[in-house]
Amino acid sequence: MKQKKELFISEGTRKVVKEELAKMKKAVTVIVVLSEEQNKPFNEFCRKLLTELSALSDKIKPVFDAPGSAAAKKYGVTRTPTLLVEPERYAIRFTGAPAGEEARTFLLAVLMASAGTTGLSEQSRQRLSELKESRNIKVFVSPTCPYCPQQALLAVCAAIEMEDLISTEIIEIHENKDLAKQYNAFSVPQAFINDSLVGLGLQPEEVFIEEILTAAPVTTKAYEGTGSTEMDLVVVGAGPAGLTAAIYAERSGMKTVVIEKGNIGGQVAITPVVENYPGFTRIGGKTLMDMMAQQAIQYTEIHEGEEVVDIERKDDLFTIRTSRASYTAKALLLTTGAQSRKLGVPGEQEFQGKGVSYCASCDGYFFKDGKKVIVVGGGNTAATEALYLKNIGVDVTIVHRRDRLRAELFLQESLTEQHIPILWNAELKEIRGEKFVTGVVLENVADKTTSTLPVDGVFVAIGYVPSNELAAKLGVATDDEGYIMVDKGHRTNVKGVYAAGDITGGFKQIVTAVGQGSLAAATIFEDIAHPYWKIGTVAS
Ligand SMILES: Cc1cc2nc3c(=O)[nH]c(=O)nc-3n(C[C@H](O)[C@H](O)[C@H](O)COP(=O)(O)OP(=O)(O)OC[C@H]3O[C@@H](n4cnc5c(N)ncnc54)[C@H](O)[C@@H]3O)c2cc1C
Repeated sequence: MKQKKELFISEGTRKVVKEELAKMKKAVTVIVVLSEEQNKPFNEFCRKLLTELSALSDKIKPVFDAPGSAAAKKYGVTRTPTLLVEPERYAIRFTGAPAGEEARTFLLAVLMASAGTTGLSEQSRQRLSELKESRNIKVFVSPTCPYCPQQALLAVCAAIEMEDLISTEIIEIHENKDLAKQYNAFSVPQAFINDSLVGLGLQPEEVFIEEILTAAPVTTKAYEGTGSTEMDLVVVGAGPAGLTAAIYAERSGMKTVVIEKGNIGGQVAITPVVENYPGFTRIGGKTLMDMMAQQAIQYTEIHEGEEVVDIERKDDLFTIRTSRASYTAKALLLTTGAQSRKLGVPGEQEFQGKGVSYCASCDGYFFKDGKKVIVVGGGNTAATEALYLKNIGVDVTIVHRRDRLRAELFLQESLTEQHIPILWNAELKEIRGEKFVTGVVLENVADKTTSTLPVDGVFVAIGYVPSNELAAKLGVATDDEGYIMVDKGHRTNVKGVYAAGDITGGFKQIVTAVGQGSLAAATIFEDIAHPYWKIGTVAS
């Protein structure tokens, strides 16, 4: 019997990819420089990927070359695998296999090269057209980092928009550790322009475009005062709580805008896999939030990369000032979530991105192959991060300042099953290193003795701090831990101000956030129609 040939791209993905590739206008040549000796599995990955993609569309034209070939010399390729997308026209290079999250970036790069257009905003394209000098962009990425594809994509878009001036290289950090070391890039994504670091982490589009123009980091954007926009409701934060509230608010007829200082999706967008959101047995956090955002933008505007910096209340109207504009609103919903808590020890800030991390799914890949790291903490997050790191091949130890964990029992059992050691009663006092982390100082909380532990990385997982700065400015009451206190309808003590999701404390989950977001929107609708402060009902 004839054996069925095993497919590299799975049947389901194949169907979707084929549909996308059918939209290609022009053929795209991809030069794939491969070697039999170095990085063997990654070279093999690229050979299979391009062979199967070209079988799905005759518009993808792979050219397989060896490191010393004429093409490799012409384009200065010395590393394998390297992929050059339509190199006669564009300078788009993938140094390392576009695996995991990066496979999508590579496919989009091919599709955009075929179309000759990108998804950048009109404003960004206009700004880029003012560029007069050449720029080389390097973005360090890893296959498991959920932030990386978007940062890489921005760099690819720039190279397509300004093909004569901008060259872009997407560098897979694990396969190119020497390059990562040379650039001191020890977390992902990191973007360099003309070899200077411009961004740690994912940057909003407009910030990155400014950095390309100036070849320097843009850290803050001044309030430009572009005039007021009159809204019924301004939602601060585009996590699950904010997006759900906006869907419900607009559907009930309230003119709503969602302002998000970072990237749409909040904490969920950096969660590798979600397995407890009803309806989805298993779904990538980023995918789930992309779906939620797709639904939300059917109804409402979402302003990404715009930070709410100040809010004032006058009579029954709020003036909300952001990094870009000014809005007025009858009601304000705070869904600002919570941020990773910092240890506050010497070395933590200095080595952030150089061995100190708050996100195992983003930076863990760099420590696989047995690098030694500690996870600091004793709750669910610490246990989950440690299990994730162990799973990808990191030599991980938990450091906990108590003699028992707070993590759920099934997580504790998994730690035991995976033989993850725990240093009990140990408090981290200092993080040491030179260019990168080399070790930590620990104190035994019982006898106060200190010891040093050589490690390559420190993952901090000690919980969250509510993002309550705006609430504080408005005089909104918070509990002892800083979480906003609300009534059953999600009203705060300040009339017209509401809160939902993680910022209100309690059970911090996606289902809770979406439930609270919907309930808050319903209350706001009721209150705008029949203000409780005018009809004498007091929020309890
Ligand atoms: C690693 C990890 C794994 C998790 N896994 C799961 C899971 O498997 N299942 C589950 O149900 N839950 C999980 N959670 C919890 C879940 O992510 C949160 O409960 C949920 O994201 C809360 O949603 P939210 O909308 O309240 O806040 P967030 O998702 O935190 O969103 C708040 C948003 O507000 C924005 N913001 C803050 N301040 C401002 C400002 N001044 N201006 C503009 N924007 C602002 C932030 O940038 C952020 O995007 C996980 C959390 C983490 C960290």
